[in-house]
Amino acid sequence: MESYINIVYLISSVCFIYGLKMLSHPKTARNGNMIASLGMLLAILATIIPEILSGNSSLNFTMIGIAMIIGTIIGTFFAIKVEMTQMPQLVAIFNGFGGGASAFVAAESFGVQDGMFFTVSVVLSLVIGTLTFTGSFIAFGKLQGLVTTKPVTFPGQQILNGFLAVVMIVAAYMIPTYGINSFYIIVALSALLGILLVVPIGGADMPVVISLLNSYSGIAAAMTGFVLYGSGDETKAAGSALIICGSLVGASGMILTQIMCKGMNRSLANVIFGAVGGDDSGDGSGDGKQLNIKSYSTEEAAMIFDAAEKIIVVPGYGLAVAQAQHAVREVAEYLEGKGKNVLYAIHPVAGRMPGHMNVLLAEANISYEQLKDLDEINPEFEDCDVALVLGANDVVNPAARSDQSSPIYGMPILNVDKAKTVMVNKRSMNAGFAGIQNELFGYDNTIMIFGDAKDMLTKLLNDLKEL
Ligand code: NDP
Repeated sequence: MESYINIVYLISSVCFIYGLKMLSHPKTARNGNMIASLGMLLAILATIIPEILSGNSSLNFTMIGIAMIIGTIIGTFFAIKVEMTQMPQLVAIFNGFGGGASAFVAAESFGVQDGMFFTVSVVLSLVIGTLTFTGSFIAFGKLQGLVTTKPVTFPGQQILNGFLAVVMIVAAYMIPTYGINSFYIIVALSALLGILLVVPIGGADMPVVISLLNSYSGIAAAMTGFVLYGSGDETKAAGSALIICGSLVGASGMILTQIMCKGMNRSLANVIFGAVGGDDSGDGSGDGKQLNIKSYSTEEAAMIFDAAEKIIVVPGYGLAVAQAQHAVREVAEYLEGKGKNVLYAIHPVAGRMPGHMNVLLAEANISYEQLKDLDEINPEFEDCDVALVLGANDVVNPAARSDQSSPIYGMPILNVDKAKTVMVNKRSMNAGFAGIQNELFGYDNTIMIFGDAKDMLTKLLNDLKEL
């Protein structure tokens, strides 16, 4: 029986690795997700079935069945109900629960075995799991607007964090003497540290934080794997599987964090300790500079498109809000039918989560070959006739290149301002996520077409057809 269980865990680990590999390309991502989910199902079954059959457990099939039905209903409800724009919040919650689950397993194993390695694994699992739990819920609150998106800072913040870490190390060292009291101190301080680590980070940096917390949840799971591995022979195999999948999540989350930091030209330390986004200069009302705005109708825009040869579409968060991915594909197909060259510029942090724009455009069957990332597309703007900016703001803000006082200074941007004509579609002059004015809107070669992205594109298509 034991060797069969080991084989099932091995198969589930292979599913995780293979699934993760498939997630690295949009074409195979969906199947990758299914394979990884299958791996998880196998791991769950391999854990609970032998436990119940052994007769030594208080678990039974009815309890497990009810728990799985409840979990399935909640998961399905969220998968259907949550909008693409709310996905980061959902990921934050998932990370939080992942960390919390690891901490619970570690708590259950607290004091089960002696020995340095086991105790260190339990403590690390408790600390990382608990701080991932509280930190993720603060990140969720910031994205949902329940907690201020501005960095919350106070003097001596880093010293306090360092002090808490030292107290936790001392409490861990004192476990043999103080037992459960050390446990309470470690859990309480980890929970506090999770909050303190995330509140000083501005809302605009939440993508990186979520990715980092995702990595933490994986590391916590891997630590829990070590705990299970050391808890006894019957949990060894489950521990091994958890070490493998936790390490995968930890490493991939860390790689994604690095990619995102590179996307914003910031170091991880600057994201975590930089408190970027704290000033109020950008409430959308501007910083005193009067912009010369030129508002065009869709009829006028259609005439400009008629004369254009090369068009680059720049999707942003507003495109996702408007659910305009199909409308933009229809406009692009029409223009291509007229012999024009249409490309899409994808900024790594456009939208509200990594890969947001790729997923949206893929949903509308826009070919991957047309999607160009930042490095590839930026040289293309120089000889581009029209850059059509749809609900994007921060990722096309030239202040990131030139204004050292800007909170987004240094973030690589799409150089849409180099195009002959920049058409910006948004509903108003309101700021984007970083909360700052965008001088691009007042440039000589920029025209604004105000309105909801989907409505605007629908009207534009009609006007193009009437030319
Ligand atoms: P922004 O948030 O900068 O701007 C989006 C713009 O869309 C707004 O200015 C808004 O203006 C407009 N808009 C909103 N609704 C509509 C609509 N229905 N139709 C047309 N326009 C609309 O988005 P970007 O994509 O340019 O930048 C992403 C920002 O989000 C960056 O600051 C990034 O750091 C941050 N972020 C990114 C994450 C990621 O992983 N990708 C995660 C979390 C944050 P108006 O209200 O006037 O219409």
